[in-house]
Amino acid sequence: MYCASSVILINACGSRQVIWWCKMLKLVKTRALVLRSFRFGEKDRILTLLSPELGKISAKAPGACTIKSKLSAGVEPLTVASFLLHRGKSMYTVSQLEVKQTNAKVRESIFDYALGLYLAELVEKTVEEGEACPAIYRLLANSWHLLNEQKGDREILARCFELKMLDLLGYRPYLEGCIFCGNIKGRFFWSKSIGGIFCETCSKDRACSPLSGGALAFLRSFLSLPIRKIANMRAPLEQKKELEKILQGYFSYWTGIHSFKTLDFLRKINNKGDNELHKMPN
Ligand SMILES: [Zn+2]
Repeated sequence: MYCASSVILINACGSRQVIWWCKMLKLVKTRALVLRSFRFGEKDRILTLLSPELGKISAKAPGACTIKSKLSAGVEPLTVASFLLHRGKSMYTVSQLEVKQTNAKVRESIFDYALGLYLAELVEKTVEEGEACPAIYRLLANSWHLLNEQKGDREILARCFELKMLDLLGYRPYLEGCIFCGNIKGRFFWSKSIGGIFCETCSKDRACSPLSGGALAFLRSFLSLPIRKIANMRAPLEQKKELEKILQGYFSYWTGIHSFKTLDFLRKINNKGDNELHKMPN
């Protein structure tokens, strides 16, 4: 049995020693994002959470499917909550939770909801279990917040998120100038395998594709500006298609992840409209 004093509130800049000490304890209190949630048996739910200090973890929410459960309010994807967790052998168990942000407005639009889930799936598939990731936590929390405010261009937000995630995972492309000769003027070409841009002269006999000046400016902004400023930017449809092709090709080449259930769903609703609501992936 553990008294209240043995519950440790981990702050966002906790040292390695503090995190190690907390891991030795059975009860941990931490803020977390609900990435995924599915029903387990008749009454329980299994959650995939992202905590800045604990990283990606799995947690069982006992009784969360029952009407009277105090946990039911905080187990939906896109929720931000403060969790009191009990550490078990294979996963955590949710003892208590306090909802901080429901992001309920995101659910009002099937497109926004699918996009919020896509960002969550992208994090879930690329972040290692149990590794602290405060920067990725902030990026996802801020992106969901922007979706909830219903401002800005959603596709630009998604592309910015993809590139910022690649940067945080260690795959930052070189976009300052030609990766071979340093030239910073003229037309540029892009190669996902090289992970950067190069000039017309250096592009000869290389597998690469032309990159428009507008798309390059967006890519540079995605890396240099906070995501809340990116959300206010606008781009023509052709440029958004170019950015999508470049970033998703680059993402799958370097992470080895070639498909996302939620991205396939997003493409479907882009083509068919809101009548796909009932087919939302888990
Ligand atoms: Zn060059």
